[in-house]
Amino acid sequence: MVEAHLNGVRNAAATAWNILNRGGSALDAVEEAVVVLEDDETFDAGRGSFLNRDGKVQLDALIMDGATLAAGGVGCVEHLRHPVRVARKILSESPHVYFVAEGAERFAVEHGIPLCRNGDLVIPREVDRLREYQAHEEAHRADLFAPTISHDTVGAVALDRDGNIAAATSTGGTLNKAPGRLGDSSLIGCGCFADNKTAAASTTGWGEPIMKLVLAKWAADRVASGNLPEWAAAEAINYLKARVNGHGGIILLDTRGRFGIAHNTPRMAWALWTVKEESSGIERNG
Ligand code: ASP
Repeated sequence: MVEAHLNGVRNAAATAWNILNRGGSALDAVEEAVVVLEDDETFDAGRGSFLNRDGKVQLDALIMDGATLAAGGVGCVEHLRHPVRVARKILSESPHVYFVAEGAERFAVEHGIPLCRNGDLVIPREVDRLREYQAHEEAHRADLFAPTISHDTVGAVALDRDGNIAAATSTGGTLNKAPGRLGDSSLIGCGCFADNKTAAASTTGWGEPIMKLVLAKWAADRVASGNLPEWAAAEAINYLKARVNGHGGIILLDTRGRFGIAHNTPRMAWALWTVKEESSGIERNG
């Protein structure tokens, strides 16, 4: 699925770039990039996500504005095609920051976002994947944190003309997760973070190790203390491995347009679009 992943992230980057190029905000850019990825069944977000133990899709997402620190998040939602859209509504229209489960879905309906059936988010590939996993559950348990276990959370970071940065992350979480389990992706500072004074970050990988380290904020703080995002991203992944034997990846961007992309999994698809360059990759060091 390498090509599908590369096409997906390139499409998302192109969508975000069109918004930024027209003078749109970083916040709009990351939201629309993540919507593209939620719509793309290749990834573990929106339709096509990994299934939980009960065979259901259960989604988490967060969006954060580096200019104001406004944020919106949803967790354990089962009837939303685009959780990041609801997260964005929470950011802009609610005094609260985070909604879960039925409360999040009720908020969505009250703000004009229709619900879908959970079955609309489930695809045959994932039904087969869960069946295969559950048939060999004992064997999988031994290497729960193995770097080869697939993680396909999506995320975006962006910098706009006004010098503001933003980040968004969306996920179906981990395969065969217990119902109600929440990962790092939608938690502020863990799977997603943005502050103009530090950096914008989005992470992927097994969420439990990442959230213990509050990894996105950890990386952003390293940028605030004068380190290049390129170095801070690599160091965050080294720290994840050294401290909790975690595997994952991070994208990191500051308000000067300096960025870092790092992962210690064999692959992580990424795409980058700036005034100077347009590139993408998937292999480690690639
Ligand atoms: N971080 C996500 C989670 O633990 C999984 C992933 O990145 O694919 O929910």
